[in-house]
Amino acid sequence: MSGEPSSSGNICDGLDDVEDYTRVNEGEEKVSWDRFNRVSDLMQKGNIAFRENRYEEAISCYSRANSIKPGDPIILGNRSAAYIRISRFLKQRSASASEYRPLNGLDPTTHAELALKDAEKVVSYRSNSVKSYILKANALILLERYESARDAILSGLQVDPMSYPLQATLQNFDRTPATICRRHGKPERTDDFDCTLCLKLLYEPVTTPCGHSFCRSCLFQSMDRGNKCPLCRTVLFVSPRTCTISVTLNNIVQKNFPEEYAERKLEHDSVTYLGNDFLPLFVMDVVLPCQKFPLHIFEPRYRLMVRRMMEGNHRMGMVDYCDCSFLSISYLRCEPLPDGRFYLEIEGQRRFRIVRSWDQDGYRVAEVEWVQDIALERTNGREELQEMANNAAEFARLWLRRAKEAAQQDRRRLAELLNAEAMMPSSQDPERFSFWLCTLSDRRPQERLDLLRIRDTKERLSRGLIYLRAEEQGCRLQ
Ligand SMILES: [Zn+2]
Ligand SMILES: [Zn+2]
Repeated sequence: MSGEPSSSGNICDGLDDVEDYTRVNEGEEKVSWDRFNRVSDLMQKGNIAFRENRYEEAISCYSRANSIKPGDPIILGNRSAAYIRISRFLKQRSASASEYRPLNGLDPTTHAELALKDAEKVVSYRSNSVKSYILKANALILLERYESARDAILSGLQVDPMSYPLQATLQNFDRTPATICRRHGKPERTDDFDCTLCLKLLYEPVTTPCGHSFCRSCLFQSMDRGNKCPLCRTVLFVSPRTCTISVTLNNIVQKNFPEEYAERKLEHDSVTYLGNDFLPLFVMDVVLPCQKFPLHIFEPRYRLMVRRMMEGNHRMGMVDYCDCSFLSISYLRCEPLPDGRFYLEIEGQRRFRIVRSWDQDGYRVAEVEWVQDIALERTNGREELQEMANNAAEFARLWLRRAKEAAQQDRRRLAELLNAEAMMPSSQDPERFSFWLCTLSDRRPQERLDLLRIRDTKERLSRGLIYLRAEEQGCRLQ
């Protein structure tokens, strides 16, 4: 028999050719040189026959190779492909052709069953090869087991979401009338699409180079404790920055299980996009608004928090060890390091008070109330404050100039001063300005805490000026 049958609607392509048998194979060490040569010869003959559409001859060669070296995925894969070709040919042969030249002993279903048997073995040996799923899907389509074929395609797409033959077949399936492939409207909800880490439907799946898929957040949460695939322990070199979501797999999950996916999204968003008055909390020293500082994040619970913050609204709250200084922080720069740690550069912004707080995956989240200095009611009181702030700004500029001159020999100090100068807020915002003024000199934690608690801008401005004068005098005394 020869002649290539034309492809019909539901045929999964991607079986254009058979695989060549090479020495570089799974389990090669088990085969002696002599056996390898015999298998290799048979495979070569079989492949030539396959390529010349002599499928029965090809099958006979592959079967002999299989008896010398059982369980080889290339041998079984090629034989499966040959069975598929025969089955397809027989199915598409018109009735009149059969009458004219009957083909005794050949029936398409038997061949498809044999193809499936081989394909299933190949899948079990090579679960991360797309080709094995293509074979399985083809055999199942020939057996008219469309729902299982669809599952095989979806499993293959988990391995390689970009596989064109699988994508095309799936699209074909979706266009085919419901009678054929979607008897129940939707594929059955098996746990094939569950993340093995959270045991829920995959949400924003990522597929690792070893072929396993997990929810993006689950994978990185697991990798906070070591850079290995949680399933097969392959060492992974992926980071949240370089790792992208498997778009196709995500679409498949979203399209087939819309309600469950929406639920998963809600769950994800509730820990990522906190409302305006909610902040994840980071426990550290007291920091002032307008103060910039670097932060190394290495603890797993904070890595998780920082990833969510980067995805969410870029803010966190800073509380000190006794839980009494509060400050909201925005990050300015965030560098994910290759080993999963983060280097953050952050800046203090607004003060808050905790209304209530709770544990979220190891770190704390709080509902907060924003705190500001007490607003001045009287018009002349406000004018007085503004004048005081303007004078303080004038003094600060002079102070900075003198300090820079004194620091000519001290590069680090000079850089600090230039940074502070660049961050100087307008004195038109006296509250913010008063905090900046206090960051010019080094303050002890207790002093910083007091500055945060003060709700009188004038008081803070005076303190800032006192600190600067004291520092200048200290310098002169040295
Ligand atoms: Zn998960
Ligand atoms: Zn893996």
